[in-house]
Amino acid sequence: MNTETIRTQFKDIFGVEADHTYFSPGRINLIGEHTDYNGGHVFPAAISLGTYGAARKRDDQVLRFYSGNFPEKGIIEVPLANLHFQEEHSWTNYPKGVLHFLEETGHTIDQGMDIYIYGTIPNGSGLSSSSSLELLMGVMAEDLFDLKLDRLDLVKIGKQTENDFIGVNSGIMDQFAIGMGADQRAIYLDTNTLDYELVPLDLQDAVIVIMNTNKRRELADSKYNERRAECEAALGALQSALNIQSLGDLDLWTFDQYSYLIKDEKQLKRARHAVLENQRTLEARKALEAGDLARFGRLMNASHVSLEHDYEVTGLELDTLVHTAWEQEGVLGARMIGAGFGGCAIALVKKEAVPAFEAAVGQRYKDVVGYAPSFYMAEVAGGSRVLD
Ligand code: ADP
Ligand code: MG
Repeated sequence: MNTETIRTQFKDIFGVEADHTYFSPGRINLIGEHTDYNGGHVFPAAISLGTYGAARKRDDQVLRFYSGNFPEKGIIEVPLANLHFQEEHSWTNYPKGVLHFLEETGHTIDQGMDIYIYGTIPNGSGLSSSSSLELLMGVMAEDLFDLKLDRLDLVKIGKQTENDFIGVNSGIMDQFAIGMGADQRAIYLDTNTLDYELVPLDLQDAVIVIMNTNKRRELADSKYNERRAECEAALGALQSALNIQSLGDLDLWTFDQYSYLIKDEKQLKRARHAVLENQRTLEARKALEAGDLARFGRLMNASHVSLEHDYEVTGLELDTLVHTAWEQEGVLGARMIGAGFGGCAIALVKKEAVPAFEAAVGQRYKDVVGYAPSFYMAEVAGGSRVLD
C-alpha cells in the first residue's frame, strides 16, 4: 500500500482529489499482558500493519465515510450535528466517537469531510485495528482543522471512544502504543503514571513473527470483564493490610508475604499473574537493553505459561500455536498477545529458521484445530502520522 494507491481509491469513491493521506499502525505487545488495567507495566510496539486513510474537507456539514474493507456498507453519511453512537452507522462509530470527544474537549470541527480508509490489520485478532482507526481519525482531524493537540490528548480520546462510546472496557495500552510508536522502538509504559520510555528494539538475527489463530475472540469481552473483577476483588483483600492503589504497586516479596489475605483460589491466581507479569516486564526490559535475547525469550515463555494456567485466557488455538512454536529450532520465545481466547500470538525466531518454523507450526495447527493459521512478519514502525 502506498499513498498513490490510497489517493486513487479515494478518487474512485468520491470523484474528487483527497487533500492528504494518513497512516496509523497496529500494535503488538512484547510482554506485560493484562497488566494495563492492573496499574502495571506494558511493553508494546507499533507495527507496519495498520490503517491507511485519505481525506478532504467538505464545504457542508456532512461526514461521508467509506472503508475499502467493508465495501458492502457503501458510503456511510453522518451529519456533523449527530455524533452519537448509532448501531446502523457500523464501523463509523469509532471515528464518530473520536470527533465527538474532540468537540467535547473544546476543539472545533465546523466542516464535513470525505474519508476513505483501508486497513491491513485483520479485524478482531488482537492487533488493535479499532485503536488504529481511532488514532487515524484523530490525526486526520488534527491535520485538516489545524487543532492544537498534545499527542497524549489524542491517545486519551481514543481510549475514551473505546470505553464510553463503543462500550469496551479496555486499558490505555493500545492507543498509547499506536499514538506514540517510533521506528525500531518498543514503548516501556507504566500504566499507573503514564511515564514511558522508547527502548531501542535490537533483535540481532531474530525477527518477530505474528501468528494469527484466525479464531475470533468471542469469549474475550465477557471473560475480560470477569478477570478485571477478579483482580479488583484480590486487590480489595490485599488493601485490608496494605496501602496500595493497584496490583502493579506490589513487588514479588510483598505479594508473597501478603497473598494469604486472598482467600479465593481463583482470585489468588489472577493476582499472581498480574504481579508476576509486571515483574517479568521489568526484567524483560533489562534483558533487551543488555542484548540478552535468550533471557527475553524465556520471559515471554513464562508470560504465556502464566496466562495459560494462572490467568486462564488462552485456549486450544493459542496453546497449540505457542506450544508448537516452543518446540521449533531457532525459536527464542513465544506467547499469546491481546485479550486471549483467540486472536494472535508472537514468536521471536531466528531469521533463517522462519520458513521451517511457519511450515511446522502451520501443519501442526491444521492437524489439531482443523484450519490454517496466518503468519505475518512484524516490522516495528512509527506511530500515527500524516503521509502526504
Ligand atoms: P481489534 O481492535 O482487536 O482488531 P475490535 O473488535 O476491537 O478488534 O475492532 C474491530 C472493529 O474496528 C471492526 O469491526 C470495525 O468496526 C473497526 N475497524 C477496524 N479497522 C477497520 C477498517 N479498516 N475499516 C472499517 N472499520 C474498521
Ligand atoms: Mg479493539
